Amino acid sequence: MEKLKYLINNYKDFPKKGIEFKDLLGILQEPEVFKDLIHEMSKSKIIKNSEAIVSIDARGFIFGSAISLYSSKPMILARKPGKLPGEIEEEKYNLEYGENSLSIQKKALNKYDSFAIVDDLLATGGTVGCVAKLLKRNKKKVLGLITVVELLELKGRDKLNFPVESILLI
Ligand code: AMP
Repeated sequence: MEKLKYLINNYKDFPKKGIEFKDLLGILQEPEVFKDLIHEMSKSKIIKNSEAIVSIDARGFIFGSAISLYSSKPMILARKPGKLPGEIEEEKYNLEYGENSLSIQKKALNKYDSFAIVDDLLATGGTVGCVAKLLKRNKKKVLGLITVVELLELKGRDKLNFPVESILLI
């Protein structure tokens, strides 16, 4: 996974001042590295022991769906407001300024009891914390988070009371 870090581009002050944005999309232009990454993520016990994967809007979908294929685990989506049809379960979370929310279709959620959460990057932990809260409120088991990058400085994992596995710690 040594090659991975050279495929991540850093953009200062994006999407706003003070944020160093880690752009992971370069990984998708190197299919062999992407394949190794998905293989590695799929080996995780968090994935193996879960009944289903929940992946987070939007870059989490890229990694989540590949893991789903590789590991033969069903996947459901946690989406930003206004994107999902039908009955939904929604949970709000705080951003640096204001708030946002994530939703899951009730029909999909009701099919499974235990979940592995998949996202591209763990920063403050607010986003993943929101999904975990939604799952727990619906009496679902959260086996853990598996993510490509973790920004250690922000101590996101300290806020999460379940296992966290990251491929690249920055
Ligand atoms: P957080 O809720 O602070 O853990 O933020 C995690 C979510 O925001 C993930 O879905 C990431 O895609 C995105 N994100 C947060 N910070 C960054 C960053 N510095 N670079 C790229 N994506 C980020």
